[in-house]
Amino acid sequence: MAALIDTHCHLNFTEFDDDRAEMLMRAHQVGVTHLVVPGVSKASWAQQRNFARHYQNWHNAFGLHPYFIAEHQHSDLEQLSIELGKGGAVAVGEIGLDATCEAMDKQRQLLQAQLQIAVDFDLPVILHHRKTLDEILKMVRDSGLTRGVVHAFSGSQQQAEAWVEQGFSLGVGGVITYTRARKTRAAIGALPLHALLLETDSPDMPTCGKQGQRNEPSYITRVFDALCSLRSESPEVVREALWQNSRRLFNLNC
Ligand SMILES: [Zn+2]
Repeated sequence: MAALIDTHCHLNFTEFDDDRAEMLMRAHQVGVTHLVVPGVSKASWAQQRNFARHYQNWHNAFGLHPYFIAEHQHSDLEQLSIELGKGGAVAVGEIGLDATCEAMDKQRQLLQAQLQIAVDFDLPVILHHRKTLDEILKMVRDSGLTRGVVHAFSGSQQQAEAWVEQGFSLGVGGVITYTRARKTRAAIGALPLHALLLETDSPDMPTCGKQGQRNEPSYITRVFDALCSLRSESPEVVREALWQNSRRLFNLNC
């Protein structure tokens, strides 16, 4: 049986400082063998590299997240290129636009520059969006990028199909465990299987029934089960496809 890959989890965050090794053990026990950890700010990158040296199959992406817009400086972009130049990164991320955060123009400038960096390094991107899905798609089209993932996809089937047409994958997370997320569940059920990736966004985005608690990669089985309930294919076929999709996008050596 194919293993599971959590393609989006912030395992370097302080929420895991007390039990990181045990948390990774729990993930391994339920079949999660590989993890993709997106960067959020310049300050996180060195720490991520350290963890990747200590823990097996911990894959890093590096980027400047819109949540931390106040922290980012223009010179961080140059540092990002230097960091990526060291090798070992599987993507540029987490990058994007968040309409609930401040400084939208600065967000746009940083996103545009990071999309170009991804093109230059021939890497996929991990995209964060909130009320900005269509604007980001336009910027991605302009950049010429054709590889990446829309993290925590929530939206209509029509929006999802536009991303798939651009060559992008859609990150399937805890959202689909909530039956009230009708539009997103319908879209995820109808999209081509080759466009889907599994993710938890740990420590955030708890699955249904775990609200208010820390999320962790071992709970990805709940997302997987919810996904299978929305798909016509067998769980084995879904699992194998998710494994192949993750390996292909991030060029994982597994
Ligand atoms: Zn994230």
